[in-house]
Amino acid sequence: METADVVIIGGGVIGTSIAFRLAKLFEKIVLIEKGEIGGQTSGSCDKAIFLQSKKAGFPIEMAIASREIYKNLQEELGMSFEFKQSGGMIVIESDSHLPFMEAFTKSQRESGINIELLNRKEALRRQPCFSSHITGATYCQDDAEVNPLLLSQAFAYGAKREGVDVRTHTEVINIHVKKGKVEGIVTNKGKIATNLVINATGPFAGNIVKMVNTDLPIQPRRGVILITEKVKPIINGSVLCSQYIAAKHLASEENVPPFGVGLSLGQTESGNLLIGGSREFVAFNKKVSTEVFSSIAKHACRIAPVLRNLKIIRTMVGFRPFTGDGLPIIDELPDVKGFIIAAGHEGDGIALAPITGKLVADLVMEKENDLLTPLTLQRFITR
Ligand SMILES: Cc1cc2nc3c(=O)[nH]c(=O)nc-3n(C[C@H](O)[C@H](O)[C@H](O)COP(=O)(O)OP(=O)(O)OC[C@H]3O[C@@H](n4cnc5c(N)ncnc54)[C@H](O)[C@@H]3O)c2cc1C
Repeated sequence: METADVVIIGGGVIGTSIAFRLAKLFEKIVLIEKGEIGGQTSGSCDKAIFLQSKKAGFPIEMAIASREIYKNLQEELGMSFEFKQSGGMIVIESDSHLPFMEAFTKSQRESGINIELLNRKEALRRQPCFSSHITGATYCQDDAEVNPLLLSQAFAYGAKREGVDVRTHTEVINIHVKKGKVEGIVTNKGKIATNLVINATGPFAGNIVKMVNTDLPIQPRRGVILITEKVKPIINGSVLCSQYIAAKHLASEENVPPFGVGLSLGQTESGNLLIGGSREFVAFNKKVSTEVFSSIAKHACRIAPVLRNLKIIRTMVGFRPFTGDGLPIIDELPDVKGFIIAAGHEGDGIALAPITGKLVADLVMEKENDLLTPLTLQRFITR
């Protein structure tokens, strides 16, 4: 039977980032992807590497560590993914959001983020196409962006160059465990014997652990993005709004706006605008009602009226892997030796992919890393 030192399941940003980092540590690594590289959530998302949108404390610490790796990542991988330090803004649309955003900015600053609070005039100077009714905005010059479609491809390119065997259109259908230890995987194209499996299947991670009779606290949280025709540059950097921050961080669904709508806005190098977004728990249902599309469009046009004149050419639907506390799980299954989970990055997988690869490398090499401590499965068991 074929053998491998490691089998990574999932070819999104997380699985490909892990493959790249592990490549130097193991002789034979196989990455198995059911469809195309980046064909699921990692290819249906925005492009922002936001620092300022993360919760204060550990989530920011992790985001800063990941952002640091981004600085030289294109050179490391040998491929461009259109990384740009373009800065990011969170628009404050109404005076009623101001106290929350003032407190938010203060805690972000205390966590080490270079963030400013801009008044209306200063915010409009940075984004002249915004409506003059806005109250102001926050601004962080270290926020950055990438082309997410290229990012998974670039990680896979770097991994392949380091000798990883990347197999697309191959589905893992079973996992063999004997006496509490992983023995191998079964795909629709054959079996591979291995003692180390990494489940990097994002929102699908729960389906994979079912193969070893376990459950995971990860559920899909649907997000929708509208894509416009190409236009000359009208947006500077990446933009969120204070309502987006509320939809992302508020634990109670009662406090979240309808369909979890909150602005996320950015413009690609080719000129298309990505207008988001929504947050809904509807399992893996890709059928989006017109109400969701129109809520996203109305909200965005209120903040940036110029958008009313643009044509929407297509939409994207993706499923964020939601754990409930805004953090991923990077840990070994307690009852199955050699079965690692690296999933649950919710709306931050693009920002956190680089550090995730490093953390999984440390975990499998049993190297101490304080960043791993808050990411264990144990945190759900003791709640
Ligand atoms: C609308 C939206 C906007 C977003 N915007 C941002 C943003 O601006 N910044 C940011 O940081 N994050 C953003 N995110 C979050 C980010 O996209 C995700 O956190 C990230 O893409 C998750 O990557 P992943 O590799 O874990 O999952 P995925 O990309 O879904 O990859 C998992 C892979 O596993 C494969 N798979 C599943 N089952 C099997 C099997 N049995 N065998 C083999 N392969 C299998 C799937 O085919 C899939 O390709 C956004 C998400 C959405 C939905």
